[in-house]
Formats: sequence, structure tokens, C-alpha cells
Amino acid sequence: MNFLSDGNIAYLQFDLLAAERVQHAVFTRKGGTSPEPWNSLNFGGSVGDEPERIRKNFNIALAPFGFSRESIYDVWQVHGTDIAIAESPRLSKSPHQKADIILSNRPGVILFMRFADCVPILLYDRMQKIVGLVHAGWEGTVKKAAQVAVQAMEDRFDCLPANILACIGPSIGPDHYEVGERVIHQVDLTFQNDRDHVLKPQNGSVHFDLWESNRLLLLQSGVRHIESVNICTACHPSDWYSHRRDHGQTGRFGVFITLPDE
Ligand SMILES: [Zn+2]
Repeated sequence: MNFLSDGNIAYLQFDLLAAERVQHAVFTRKGGTSPEPWNSLNFGGSVGDEPERIRKNFNIALAPFGFSRESIYDVWQVHGTDIAIAESPRLSKSPHQKADIILSNRPGVILFMRFADCVPILLYDRMQKIVGLVHAGWEGTVKKAAQVAVQAMEDRFDCLPANILACIGPSIGPDHYEVGERVIHQVDLTFQNDRDHVLKPQNGSVHFDLWESNRLLLLQSGVRHIESVNICTACHPSDWYSHRRDHGQTGRFGVFITLPDE
């Protein structure tokens, strides 16, 4: 993992993807135009910020990569496991598809999602040239969104899990993620014998480890190359939005991945 900056923006890149020259970034909140409580590189369109500022934030963030917003494919993220196949950018006037997994085999289409505690998972198959992006909070994790994405890469694009690179980005970490009975019950159902690896007692309460959960799901799918940054959004207010830390009054940071040009 590497923190990089360009002008006022700062972003994170994964070693696994950088080594394959896959253009991607996890943008920190730095360098944008939005005021508090969204300061400043907010991409969330449903959190009260002005559309014009979000438009400017896109321009600021994408310019260093030579991209524009017209190349983006984004979705309406709903904590599920539906898949959107991005064959072309989403036209600004066309509605968002409801999905939490985007896959593409098209260079020039930039897969984009928004986060503030949920887990971003970036996927790349270097043999079949497929990219993927997954949004997994606790719901997406217990619904095994990461496994649904890998299975779809196998079924639709003939990918082999052993060739897939998987990168787990910043999210709320186990130190800050206390969960209640409803979540614990769902985690038990999903992880069964592994539940003690992902639910940790802490000061009389129970904390859920989203990073380890998604790493286990990927391993169970046969993915062998996994990079997890283990950065907690709630621990680093100057870099990341955190829905839980900020009690819902916050922005969304952006993540993109796109295939290398042929
Ligand atoms: Zn933390």
C-alpha cells in the first residue's frame, strides 16, 4: 500500500494493483471543495452536500489520472449482492442501477463507488482482463458479496480465482465496530465455525472484524492474492469519512478502478 498525492488530493493505492499497472485509487477526504461536515472531497450525493460541489470534486480527483466524470460507471449502493456489468459509462441523465458489485471487461470504463465505513474490495483478473468493485458493510459481508463477485467473474468471464488479485481498502476497523445481537446472529449464520475469528469480545461487548471476514470469504472462494490495508476509517478523521464516528453527518470517499489500456 502506498499513500500518494497530487496537488491537494491524497489517495491510497495497492501494491498488488500498482504492480500490474491497474489504474485505481482510494481517495482520502483531502483536497476537495465541500465545507463541513463533508469537508472536503465528498462524492456522496445523498448526504446533503451541493451537487455543484460534488461535480467539482469529481473534476479535481479525476484530473490527475486524465479521466473525466463522463467515463464513470457508478451505482446506487443498497447493501445487497446484485451485480452491475458496466459495458459503457453511465450517462449522467440515466438512472443508477441498484447494485453493490460492479464488473467490467471494458478499458475506458471507470468503476466508481462511495464509502464511509463499509469495505471497498477491488478485484482484478490479470489473465481475463476483468475488473471488479464491491461495497460490503456488515450486510454485504454476511451476504457474502465478495464471494458473489468472484463467482460472477468465474461464470460470466471465465476467470479463475487463483488469477484474481483482491484488495481490501479502509473501513471501520474491529476496534471501533461494536455490534449488537441482530448482527451477531447473522455473522454466526454466515461464518459458523469461523465466527470466533471475526467476532471479538472487547470490554464486555462484541466487535466485528470486517477485514478478516472478507479475507476469509475471498480465501474460501479460492482467491490467493489478497492485500488488506487494515486502516480504520473511524481512527483517522483527517483522512476518512466515518458514518459511525460522525453519527451520520459526514461525506463519502470515492474509490475507482479501471482496466489498463490494451
Ligand atoms: Zn478504529
